[in-house]
Amino acid sequence: MVTLWSRKHRILVGAVGLVLVVAPVLGAKWLIERTTRENAAENVAEVAAEFISRAELSLASGTNALNQLALAGVDDCGPRSLETMRPIVAAVLPIKALAVTDGGRILCNQFGETDPLESLSAAVPLNDGTTTLGLVRLRSAGTSGVLVTRELSDGTALAAFVAREAIVGTFLPKLLRTTAAGTLAFVNGTAISAFQPPIIDPRARPADGPVISARAASDRFPIAMRLSVPESTYEAASSGLLTTAMLGGGLIATLIFGLLLYILRRPSAAVAQMIEAEGRGEFVPYYQPVIDIVTGRLVGCEVLVRWLKPDGTLVMPGTFIHLAESSGLASAMTLSVMRAVRADLDRAFGQRPQLSIAINLFNAHFARLSTARDIARVFEGASIGLCQLIFELTERLPVHNVARARVVIRKLQSLGARVALDDAGTGHSGLAHLQQLGVDIVKIDKFFVDTIGAGETAAPIVNSLIRLGHDLGMEVVAEGVETFEQLDYLRRHGANQAQGYLFSPPLPARAFLDLVETMEPVGERAEPQPLPLTELEQDTRAVA
Ligand code: C2E
Ligand code: CA
Ligand code: CA
Repeated sequence: MVTLWSRKHRILVGAVGLVLVVAPVLGAKWLIERTTRENAAENVAEVAAEFISRAELSLASGTNALNQLALAGVDDCGPRSLETMRPIVAAVLPIKALAVTDGGRILCNQFGETDPLESLSAAVPLNDGTTTLGLVRLRSAGTSGVLVTRELSDGTALAAFVAREAIVGTFLPKLLRTTAAGTLAFVNGTAISAFQPPIIDPRARPADGPVISARAASDRFPIAMRLSVPESTYEAASSGLLTTAMLGGGLIATLIFGLLLYILRRPSAAVAQMIEAEGRGEFVPYYQPVIDIVTGRLVGCEVLVRWLKPDGTLVMPGTFIHLAESSGLASAMTLSVMRAVRADLDRAFGQRPQLSIAINLFNAHFARLSTARDIARVFEGASIGLCQLIFELTERLPVHNVARARVVIRKLQSLGARVALDDAGTGHSGLAHLQQLGVDIVKIDKFFVDTIGAGETAAPIVNSLIRLGHDLGMEVVAEGVETFEQLDYLRRHGANQAQGYLFSPPLPARAFLDLVETMEPVGERAEPQPLPLTELEQDTRAVA
């Protein structure tokens, strides 16, 4: 199974996913809580205002009744007066009694009875200058309430008694019934009525969290209402909504993220093709001979991958190797190429332990501590010895973690394998990596080999790479050698080995094995054999 994404990618996508899922959920939570708080404050203010308008209605029924009495000319306790009062008391619910008073006493109520007035507060005047409100207890009514009094000219007054229950009704919305506290009071501070949340569970401690309060005042009567509700009342009510919203939001966010991941992870058509090709074993190794330029003997080969399509087309690595690397196919491709190398060369190279096999790795291999173990596994039990293997690290692409790369290189070396710095001098590191990484071999890139021109013009970089390599105890391999002139120059300047079209292009396994048989026959330490160039020219055409 091919892993498409690197660890770094997965961590990044995981983090983005987490943010994508968590952010809307937290956002929804914040929004719901804020809306809940705002709505709660609004709700408390509305309920307080509702208390005031109900109280106003009740008190207005008192002032209206007094208007009626005044219009009817009631100013004494005569039978006509009582007859006017009685039906009003019967018909107007909040009014429990109508009376003629002398300030301190009820001279007569609607039944003609007298009653002492027990005043519970100072009288508060209304704007009209003749009417006052006062809290009283009326024995005949058996309760306390507000007495609306209107002065007549001769020290007597008309009064309407509105019971306390009629002023502060029990209309609290269900949500607030067990938690709200309120006080309806005259503007001078005297409470007309107050209520506390009922004690449902005597052991429960009173809620001491934040409280939402609102005050509403009447503009017709000198009364005001203060209402307080614990915030928790609304939080509890909205928690169901909150849970639903968070679950729903989380689910939707997860679905969206999943979809995004699916779209993102879906390999591009080209990558998908490569994955299939990899599964069908279409990535095959070609082998380019490496020659000892002093003795002329074959010393080994470099493995160069080719995509051999079912229709016979041969695709060069330049067109797919970067895609393989960026799509995470590198690891799987390298392993399958190595398995193919083992299958192709095991016999021939097992019989010729002096020959080496150079395998190109991706830079990602040098960032992964498991690389050496994975490679050892591929060659477990093979005739090819691990000490015949050379792993190439290109300097063309940056090595991000040099310390880690050093560790991986050590691990490969401890298997017995060698490590080569490929394309030396082309990278950004100058020649620093040559010293830092502790490699065994330096490969001079074709670009510098090409600077070896006609005649004796110096190729300064080639010279310094060879010198530096030797100073550091490394073997020096020149790549892309195409002319005898280049070969001659390299030989004279001390390069050890070379590969290039001058000797042979990369060959398919069969052709390469034939070449091995010819150049390095088993059993005898053969004299250096000239390369069968004519045969190779055919392959050059096939490969190009
Ligand atoms: P490289 O490792 O620098 O390989 C040398 C390249 O130069 C090869 O190209 C080879 O065919 C070409 N070459 C050799 N001699 C001559 C010559 O005399 N003249 C000219 N003009 N070219 C010569 P190729 O096979 O196309 O590979 C290109 C690059 O792709 C390689 O450069 C290597 O970086 C990468 N590559 C190839 N196979 C693999 C692989 O299996 N794994 C990895 N990670 N990279 C690979
Ligand atoms: Ca190489
Ligand atoms: Ca190279």
